[in-house]
Amino acid sequence: MKTMHVVSVSGGKDSTATLLLALERVPRDRVRPIFCDTGNEHTAVYEHLDYLEQALGVTITRLRVNFSEQIAAKRMFIARDQRTRREYDTKPVFDAEGNPVPKRDGRGNVITRRVKRGAVYAMEPVQKTVKVGGGRRVRWTNKAKRRALAVLFPTGNPFLDLCLWKGRFPSRTRQFCTEHLKRDMAVSFQLELIDAGHRVVSWQGVRRDESPNRRAAKKIERIGPALWAFRPLVEWNAADVFSYADRSIRPNPLYLAGCDRVGCMPCVNVSKGELQTISQRWPEHIERIAEWERLVGLARKRGAATFLPAPGETRTAADRGNIWQRVEWSRTTRGGRQFDLLADLVEPTACASSYGLCA
Ligand code: SF4
Repeated sequence: MKTMHVVSVSGGKDSTATLLLALERVPRDRVRPIFCDTGNEHTAVYEHLDYLEQALGVTITRLRVNFSEQIAAKRMFIARDQRTRREYDTKPVFDAEGNPVPKRDGRGNVITRRVKRGAVYAMEPVQKTVKVGGGRRVRWTNKAKRRALAVLFPTGNPFLDLCLWKGRFPSRTRQFCTEHLKRDMAVSFQLELIDAGHRVVSWQGVRRDESPNRRAAKKIERIGPALWAFRPLVEWNAADVFSYADRSIRPNPLYLAGCDRVGCMPCVNVSKGELQTISQRWPEHIERIAEWERLVGLARKRGAATFLPAPGETRTAADRGNIWQRVEWSRTTRGGRQFDLLADLVEPTACASSYGLCA
């Protein structure tokens, strides 16, 4: 039984350093670099992967998920939808003193739920609610069915097809893109190796200083039968990673252009500054997202979709797409109320790396 070392490569600095470490430490024929292609990538990422293959003499396996079956099943569901149920808006109930009224079950017992308060769990009563208004019918109207079925076809782009299938874009609180476009693809690749009789070590370019939820990341962890996670960079910081990878490999040009990280263009977690950079340097990606908003909106029951949290009804949103409203906001200062008059003076071709790569 051989041990195979699967390295998830995104084209970013951490995964590149992880791949370099793997190539240094284990025999080359045991290293399997993979790239989970979301279809929402900058062309510089694909070019950088080609460069890495050439510079390191490796083949990076590209994995792209196909949602044709899910979209076909959704078309069938919409076409056949005959549900009669209605859904209602609700409002919380308070007593005469303004205290919340608890919800009770059929026997009069207060219904409770488990909540996390800091580091401890506690049980708290669920507040009673009442329906407001006449509600909406749950089933798709014939008009909405015609509108959705006219556009609901697989496009071959994993990110767009995922959103067409789900009828919405992922968000910070419902980040299903990572699971469907990256994690599941990587796991099925690893399981195929295990099924072929190998042990698998999954090399992951995770650093503890990246975010609070990575602070407890373990360096090595058994995550299943014949499957381990190995995170060689957990104790490194961004500067360590650049100085290590910089010895032999040039960085992804997106860092030189001002991106903090390499991933979707844009990511649903995009910061205000990153959105401003993207709109100035690569407006074609914003145009693409505006077109995706139109398509996903047509494929939804309610007829509209936003890539980033809904900006509300504005002239810009109506004329050019919701994403452009967020772009306008990204060019403001002071809580989104004043336009940043210097923002457009940043020369779009100059280096703006937040890691000081061109110092
Ligand atoms: S979280 Fe961001 S980078 Fe990751 S798949 Fe979703 S949109 Fe892409």
